[in-house]
Amino acid sequence: MTQATPPLVAIRGRSLIDGRQRAATANPVILVEGRRIKAVGAAGDIAIPDGSSIVDAGACTLMPGLIDMHVHVAAFNCLTFQNYRVATFEVSPQLQMFYCLYHAQLCFEMGFTTLRDMGRGTPYGAYTAELCALRDAINAGVVPGPRLIVSGRTMITGSHFDLLTLPRAAKREPGFTADGPYALRSLAREHLRTGCDVIKTCVSGGMAARSEYDVRNMTQEELNAVVDEAHAFRKPAAAHCFTPDGQRMCVEAGVDTIEHMVFTDDDAIARIRDSGRYVVPTLLHRSDAAIERRREHGASESLVRRMKEIQPSCFETFQRMRSAGIRIAMGTDMTIDPEMGQNAKELEIYVRLGMSAMEAITSATRNAADALGMLRELGTLEAGKLADVIAVDGDPSQDIRVLQDRARIKLIMKEGEIYVDKLSREPKYVIHPQPAERKIIDRL
Ligand SMILES: [Zn+2]
Repeated sequence: MTQATPPLVAIRGRSLIDGRQRAATANPVILVEGRRIKAVGAAGDIAIPDGSSIVDAGACTLMPGLIDMHVHVAAFNCLTFQNYRVATFEVSPQLQMFYCLYHAQLCFEMGFTTLRDMGRGTPYGAYTAELCALRDAINAGVVPGPRLIVSGRTMITGSHFDLLTLPRAAKREPGFTADGPYALRSLAREHLRTGCDVIKTCVSGGMAARSEYDVRNMTQEELNAVVDEAHAFRKPAAAHCFTPDGQRMCVEAGVDTIEHMVFTDDDAIARIRDSGRYVVPTLLHRSDAAIERRREHGASESLVRRMKEIQPSCFETFQRMRSAGIRIAMGTDMTIDPEMGQNAKELEIYVRLGMSAMEAITSATRNAADALGMLRELGTLEAGKLADVIAVDGDPSQDIRVLQDRARIKLIMKEGEIYVDKLSREPKYVIHPQPAERKIIDRL
């Protein structure tokens, strides 16, 4: 008996952006067989076999599912909590799991079919196991959502990550932090055993309450150990880093993606460029809107002030990286402050700072997939790749802002399966199209 071949789906649209920073293709067809793209090209070049089901995306632009390299779906429940510092202690891990799924789905519904989640420290410890469980539930088809790439955190005592989401005086779970190369190797191995996809660490301070961004968070020896451990298990390493000294340490250690950057110098820029490392800029998190939302949701005045202080450096560093030819993969540091799902606003900032719209799109498609080490499977619309396809009403290569409009994201396909379909007479959604009003549950 021969095995039944999966049904073919042919998606048509007005134009196609393939993610490779090339001119758009007019009147395209994407032929999808099972989970993968079978063929893609102009309608005249692609024969649609009899019996294929047709998805007519009309005037839409077809493009790869978007990738956000830096989100925190476990973070800050400001959708239903007025004050995120209260939420840290009021929300149990069990309740938080529902928020994690909801946050991931909010991004998914906006065309982000892949999210790299950068974790969270909670009063119950790091969230690696919880996020791996969410990833696995999505992959198993139990709940709809984006593909999650989950990080495990390795951090030293008193580091930025140690202080980022937990108050200085809060008790830590044993094993929350580690010090010295062998203890950090052990911590990395624990996270790897839990099933994380990437090891995350921090080499400099950041914007945590009452900590300084320019303090060193690890010795070179410790960083080398963490990165070596990740690579030994064939996983990439990502490092939060705000300073040029930290950036030099990252290049030396072989860190795969440098997160944030913020401050830099010519030497660090040259070393990163020559090493071919990717940088994930996370500028949306530095926007006025994000800072204001932080203030509304309980951030201290000093944190708000310091976020505003570093803002110009973030934007300037981005421009320096871009003109130097550093490879950029899009990431937002979405932590609910700019609400989940508004990830594509990051691309608008890139365009405002000098990228073409097509270059910005490439940072969230091809480059992001490359930075994940998943370019063979994701990031561009090419035969053989997983069929992560979205249809957008409008032309993002002319106006990048169309990606921010939920009503314009008409179709979302992940691995050949349609999750959102606003083109059909019987539309399909992940999140209820008329959800009940969200309630702020800690308002007096
Ligand atoms: Zn982050």
